[in-house]
Amino acid sequence: MIEFVEVGPRDGLQNEKLLVATADKLQLIERALGYGARRIEVASFVNPAKVPQMADAEAVCAGLPLRSDATYVGLVLNARGAERALATGRIDQLGAVAVASDAFGVANQGQTSARSIAAVAEIAALARQAGKTVQATIAVAFGCPFSGEVPAAHVVAMARELATLGLEEVALADTIGVADPAQVAALLGQVKAAVHPLPVRVHFHNTRGTGLANVWAAIGAGASVVDGSLGGLGGCPFAPGAAGNVASEDVAYMLNRAGIETGLHFPAMVAANHWLAGVMGRRLPGMAAQAPPFPAGLA
Ligand code: ZN
Repeated sequence: MIEFVEVGPRDGLQNEKLLVATADKLQLIERALGYGARRIEVASFVNPAKVPQMADAEAVCAGLPLRSDATYVGLVLNARGAERALATGRIDQLGAVAVASDAFGVANQGQTSARSIAAVAEIAALARQAGKTVQATIAVAFGCPFSGEVPAAHVVAMARELATLGLEEVALADTIGVADPAQVAALLGQVKAAVHPLPVRVHFHNTRGTGLANVWAAIGAGASVVDGSLGGLGGCPFAPGAAGNVASEDVAYMLNRAGIETGLHFPAMVAANHWLAGVMGRRLPGMAAQAPPFPAGLA
């Protein structure tokens, strides 16, 4: 059993130039619930001048379906973001971001790697006071667009420190899509041991076509939670050249066919992909939704 997290409403859309209407974001969230996602990253609470696509985070939260079986995640980079997310009253879990390189950290969130861990600690304290859960993702864990290779030992040390902060899980993100499956397996194994017994989540971008292979390698090395974005949308405004996330429906197809339970309903994801392509006005990068149903007739 692998837990799936739909990050389309946040990571999928944050880099899109077309401003997606709040109503369409809410439709995307409804559809994600419909195809079986039970944890959804619904928005980020960041500076709207820097990420205009997320300027309606509060409005999205106000429209979220009332579901006792769903966990709504708000991405936050500092205490101010955490306070905004918590003030909505609709965010169940804060997603904090620690950065594995100083260069990316300063570009993305104005924090060095060390400062980003201190920010996670502040965010975690605010979440706890509000009775909410919190997790953290280590961004650019497999490579940095500015400084290149990221030492595995640094990522493992960060994970070990993060695990002391009262988090639900620690995640590794390949923000720019440079990881390969051997690197993923090796780093996952070390991080899993460093944060034990916390679960490890993984977040892959498919910039160079290694996304699904990396998901598979991560699961083999002990990851128990996987992020994906419907249609493979995604990118990062502060990471030059980063392409979309692994497509949720491609992850679901692969894992379901391999006999790994995800709770995801693939045909409903295909329908959601086609709906989202209509909203975006273009075909989306994900592949499984473009192919004929298999076995034939399973639509
Ligand atoms: Zn991402």
